Amino acid sequence: MNKYSFLLCCLLLILNTACQKGLQQISSPSENKAVHLEKPYVILISLDGYRYDYNKRFQPPHLSKFAAEGVQATSMLPCFPSKTFPNHYSIATGMRPENHGLVNNTFYDPKKDAIYKMSDREKVEDGTWYGGTPIWVQAAKSGMLSASYFFVGSEADVQGVRPNYWYRYDGSIPNKDRTKQVIDWLNLPPAKRPHLIMMYFSDVDSKGHRFGPNNAEQLKASIFALDEVLGNFFQDLEKLDLPINVIIVSDHGMEEVPIENYIEIERLEDDSLYKTVNNGALAHFYLNDKNKLEEVYQNLKAKETRFRIYKTSESPYYKTNPTHPRLGDLIAVVDHHYYFADARRIALRKRVGRTINGEHGFPVNNKDVHAIFYARGPQMKSKMLTPSFENIHVYPLICEILGIKIPKDIDGSINVLADILIK
Ligand code: AMP
Ligand code: ZN
Ligand code: ZN
Repeated sequence: MNKYSFLLCCLLLILNTACQKGLQQISSPSENKAVHLEKPYVILISLDGYRYDYNKRFQPPHLSKFAAEGVQATSMLPCFPSKTFPNHYSIATGMRPENHGLVNNTFYDPKKDAIYKMSDREKVEDGTWYGGTPIWVQAAKSGMLSASYFFVGSEADVQGVRPNYWYRYDGSIPNKDRTKQVIDWLNLPPAKRPHLIMMYFSDVDSKGHRFGPNNAEQLKASIFALDEVLGNFFQDLEKLDLPINVIIVSDHGMEEVPIENYIEIERLEDDSLYKTVNNGALAHFYLNDKNKLEEVYQNLKAKETRFRIYKTSESPYYKTNPTHPRLGDLIAVVDHHYYFADARRIALRKRVGRTINGEHGFPVNNKDVHAIFYARGPQMKSKMLTPSFENIHVYPLICEILGIKIPKDIDGSINVLADILIK
C-alpha cells in the first residue's frame, strides 16, 4: 500500500466511524454570510402557558394591540402531550414529539437506559437527546447567526451547534433584562447581529398552575406585568429601524383541575413488571418483558377510572405513527380536568388548602389547552385573522421569512401559513 492509499483508507475509516455513531456535527458561523446581511430579522417570543383566550378575557393593552395590528390565529394547537418541553421543541424543529424525540417533560430512553427530565441539567444540555434540526441549527447551516434568551433545546449542542449567543436557563432573571439583552444583540454590527432570536417567559404558566386559568386577579396581574415589559420592548424595537418580524406564541393553554380530581399514580405502578414515568395528563409504561404486553394491558385496563389505558401503538392521540421507544409500550391518558400525581404531592396540596389548580398536558380535543399565535412585522399581512393550526407549521414560516432552506423531513408545511406573508 502506498502513502496515498494509506491516507485514503484512514480518511474512509474516520468517515465510517462518524456515520456509524450518527455524528452529523456542523460548525457555527462566526459572522453572517454576505447574502444574509440585507435579510429580515425574526424574534420568536414564547409566553409559556398563555391560553388562546387570555387576550380576549383580560385585554392586556400591548399584546391586544399587537394581535389586532398583525396576524392572529383563532388558536394554535399544541402537539400531544400539551407540555412545555415537547411543544417548545416542536416549535423549534417543526416536528411532532413522537418524531423529534422529546416526547414529554420527563421520559425514559430504553437505549440509553436513562431518564430525561427538565430539571436534570446534564441531560438538558446534552445534544444526543435531541432529534430534528432546531431552527437555529438550520440557520447556522446556511451561515446565519442566531441568539436565544432561553428556549428549550438551545442549551444543548444539537448536531454540535448552539445559537451563537445563548444563556443557560435561569427563571429568576427579570424579564426586563431579557428584552434589554435582545436590543443589545440587535445593536451589534451587521456581520455579528443575529437574524433569528428566540425568547421565553414563564410567568403566566406559573400563575396559571398556582391559581387556575379562571382566576381573575393573580393571573391578570402576571399578564399585565409581562404586557408592560413587552410594550416597552416593542417601542425599543421600533427605534432600531430594522426589518424585524416578531412572532409571539405559547406552548399550550391551561385547564382547571379541582383537588378532588387528582389520581394517585401509585395505583398504577408495578416495578416488577414495568417502569412508570408520570407526567400528569399522560403516564408512560416501559415493560421489563415485551412478551407481557397483553397481560399488563389487561391489568392496567381493569383499573381504569377517569383515565384510559392504551397500547401506545393503538393510541388515538398521536398524529404520526407512535413508534418512538421513549413513548413506552403502554400509556395512560387522563380524562379532561383530571390529573395523575403522587400521593405525597396530593396530600401536600390538600394540607395547604389548594382547592383549584391549573394543569396541561391533555389532548387538544379540549380547547382549554390551545395556545396563541400572533405575528407582526414588515413581512406579515396586517389585521388578519387566520384559522387554528398546529404549532409544527411555525418552523417553515420562519425559514421562509429568513430565506433559509426548509428541511425535507419535518412534519410542518409552508403551505399552511404561506398566506399570512406579504408576497
Ligand atoms: P411545565 O411543567 O410543562 O409547566 O413546565 C414549565 C416550566 O418549565 C417553567 O416553569 C420553567 O421553570 C421550566 N423551563 C422552561 N424552560 C426551561 C429550560 N430551558 N430548562 C429548564 N427548565 C425550563
Ligand atoms: Zn409550558
Ligand atoms: Zn406549565
